[in-house]
Amino acid sequence: MAPPPADAPASALVLFSGGQDSTTCLGHALTHYGRVETVGFNYGQRHEVELKCRHRVRAAIADRFPAWAARLGPDHEIDISSFGAIGETALTSDAEIVMMESGLPSTFVPGRNLVFFVYAAALAHRRGLNVLVGGMCETDYSGYPDCRDETLQALENAIRLGTEVPFTIDTPLMWLSKAESWALADKLGGADFVDLIREETHTCYRGDHVTKHAWGYGCGQCPACELRAKGYHEWCAR
Ligand code: ZN
Repeated sequence: MAPPPADAPASALVLFSGGQDSTTCLGHALTHYGRVETVGFNYGQRHEVELKCRHRVRAAIADRFPAWAARLGPDHEIDISSFGAIGETALTSDAEIVMMESGLPSTFVPGRNLVFFVYAAALAHRRGLNVLVGGMCETDYSGYPDCRDETLQALENAIRLGTEVPFTIDTPLMWLSKAESWALADKLGGADFVDLIREETHTCYRGDHVTKHAWGYGCGQCPACELRAKGYHEWCAR
């Protein structure tokens, strides 16, 4: 693992779900920023496993990466279930949760990342943190308009204007493929960090944290699992 630069003055708040992408972002933040806190949003997730993973990942990082542990500050959880409820109530009578072509569950609420960042900015303001880090990515998710770089640049500007604080939105995965995200994790924290991501993080939309694969836990069939598996195998094949 590369030692954190000694002159890393900035402090960061990481949007942290306990998944592969946000865990990689946390490694990035702990490498590049002097003080790092995490925030998670409970918006009525069906899978509590996601929130449990957040604590496990943070604990594993604190335990196994002493240089990072020294920079890792508190975690925050914000309940935005009223926002999640828009997705539930907007469904018609055959309200079964299905996966859409986009790879998102049918309960997905548009503009979710906009809401996350506004909450994160308010929290960061209170905590004196000046960089907001998120795992959004255009490469694999070009269909989701609130993941696009252009959207987040405009949001960064809106947050700066609306808070009069020069916040920066840092999205280290924006232009990476899934294979390149695994490579970034390896670069940041070596094989130990890759192992931590495989063992502790959760990405599966169906909440399967029992079935184990080379790339981690998951049903292996939902769009999130397929993407994660494909990226892992491509990275391994390099
Ligand atoms: Zn899955």
